[in-house]
Order: sequence, then C-alpha cells, then structure tokens
Amino acid sequence: MEEIRIQRTEHPAPKPDPNGLGFGRIFSDHMFLMDYSLELGWHDPRIVPYAPFTLDPSAMVFHYAQEVFEGLKAYRAPDGGVQLFRPADNGQRLADSCERLCIPPVPVEDFVAAVKALVEVDAGWVPSAPGTSLYIRPFIIATDANLGVHASHTYIFCIITGPVGAYYASGIDPVKIYVESADVRAVRGGTGYAKCGGNYAASIRAGERAEAEGYAQVLWLDGVERKYIEEVGSMNVMFKIDGKIVTPALTGSVLPGITRRSCLELLRDWGYEVEERLVTAQELFDAGAGGRLEEAWGTGTAAVVSPIGEMGWEDKHVVVNGGQIGPVTQKLYDTLTGIQWGTQPDPHGWTVKL
Ligand SMILES: *Cc1c(COP(=O)(O)O)cnc(C)c1O
Repeated sequence: MEEIRIQRTEHPAPKPDPNGLGFGRIFSDHMFLMDYSLELGWHDPRIVPYAPFTLDPSAMVFHYAQEVFEGLKAYRAPDGGVQLFRPADNGQRLADSCERLCIPPVPVEDFVAAVKALVEVDAGWVPSAPGTSLYIRPFIIATDANLGVHASHTYIFCIITGPVGAYYASGIDPVKIYVESADVRAVRGGTGYAKCGGNYAASIRAGERAEAEGYAQVLWLDGVERKYIEEVGSMNVMFKIDGKIVTPALTGSVLPGITRRSCLELLRDWGYEVEERLVTAQELFDAGAGGRLEEAWGTGTAAVVSPIGEMGWEDKHVVVNGGQIGPVTQKLYDTLTGIQWGTQPDPHGWTVKL
C-alpha cells in the first residue's frame, strides 16, 4: 500500500457525553478511504474528514448488495494507551468475505495498517469510561454505475469509527431467545460464512417478529433441514451440556466469529472438553428438560458474551441456569474483557498496541 495521506478536519466535533454513547449513532472526526480500479488496483489510501459519499444511483451496491464489512473495537488501557484485539483476524475474514462476493481483497497487512492509522488520528475519540470503546466499522462497496449483474470493476474501501457505550450498562442480564423455524439466515453454498450486508437483510424480519413477541434474539436453524442450531441473532452460540462445551461447527452457513475462536481457545486452555459439531434444537431442549443444559451464551464483538436465560421453540420452553448468568459464561466475560481492556495478562498475544 502507498503511504496513507492524512487530511485533518478543520472542524473537530465536540466529544460526546461518555454516559450516553449507545451503539452506532456517533461517529469520529475522520474516515479512511481507498479506491479500487482495474487499472490501478487498490490505490490512494487516505484519511479525510468524516463526510457523506456521492454515488451514482446505479452504483451496484444499491441494487445487488455486493458489499462486505467487518466490526472490531479499540480499547483504552489503564495506562492510557489504546489497543486493538486480533485485528489481523478481522483482516483475514474480510479477505475471505471478499473472495465469496467477488470483491478484490485488501491485503491483511494493509487492513491492519489502515485501522491503526485511523485510530491514531482519532485516538481522542477512544473513550475511557468503564466498558466503553471505539467501535471500528470497515466495509467495501461496489461502485460501478451499471445495472448489469456481474462483479463491479470499481470499489471503495472505507473505515468509520465511533465511540460506543458499555454493552451492559446495568449488569449482565441474560436474554430470552426464540428458535426461528420459518425464516433462515443462510444456507450452505450461500454467504453465511461471509460478513456481508445481504445476510442481515434476510435476517431482519425474524428479528422484528421475535422482538414483537418479547424475545431479544432469534436462534437460527440451518437452512436445509431446519434442525440444527447455527447462531443466535448476529452472534455465535455455545452451550454447556453435561459439563462439556458444545458449539455449532463452521459448516459454511455459520459466521466464523473471532470472539467464538477466542472463547474456544480459552475454554481449551482451562481444560474443558470442547465439541464443534452439529447440534439439533431437539438435543438442546431435551438437555434443558432433563436438567443437563447448564449454560448457554452468545459470543460477538459487541457484547463479548451474552448469557441466554430462556429459550422458546414452538410450544416448548426452557429456562437455563435459573435465568442467571452461569460461572463459565461469567469467567469468559471477565477474562476476555480483561484482555481487551488491558487489565489482565494476554498470554496469547491477542492485543495490538497502537
Ligand atoms: C460478526 C458476526 C458474528 C460475531 O463475530 P465476532 O468476530 O466475534 O464479532 C457472529 N455472527 C454473525 C452473523 C456476525 O455477523
């Protein structure tokens, strides 16, 4: 990658109240941009003031959703420094998503360099209140002005960032989830393993329906047999059954989460037996009815871990661990957040300081 040009804003925005950050509503002063063309490849990396894009109404991304994205965070450590968590893994996953969507990949080292450069320019936007962080959203969009269905020849790689609040502002509350039997999020051979906007478009209806019924998230089943558990909302999912950790295998329709991978590595470090395999909803509800479903939780960058306290599936109902967060879920949360915010040792070398 060429050297990143930096154009600083002349109108820096006032920093928001750290108590009212929420998620995804406030954006930092700058963004990273890089263009792609057939002639020049990825070129002109630059950091510029955060501003709207001008795109042709026929730009391919608007019509055929040729788009991929990532999500990671920068954390303020106790010494005042700023650190990232496994950013090269996000870079590799973006490249894998690109391959699926016929988008020319950004080299992993360029992805990491771009994220670091942008967070350095906007380091003042990394909040320091407990549990807060700077959310980083890299994405690539197809920009050819052309309604023909084929791979675009031009793209924009953009990274925006914004401060986000503590996910659990008032303690970790286990959530109620609903097993979705009608809509599916992804199928093998589709784009389930890629992080792309299209997967989300397909998931919104079931999410809205579950919310209207008083559930926080949807538990997705596989798209072919509607039998096997895949993910929970936009998180991976794990269960503790009879002392063992069980999680859906990465069959192609499951997103390979970096929090998932990190949890599995920690659980193996701690001596747990970990099974990555097909898990049926029936097995889960049988374990629940038999008192063998000890814990259940989702994993993802936003929440880190999200305990599941109750599950509904058609007329069946299961309460997990009395609706309370379980000890393994709590230990994963404490350990991962400790590593991410730099308050605990990082034996795997997952963090990258700016
Ligand atoms: C991003 C995402 C996850 C979680 O991935 P992390 O790398 O852990 O943040 C899980 N499922 C879906 C569908 C996702 O988009």
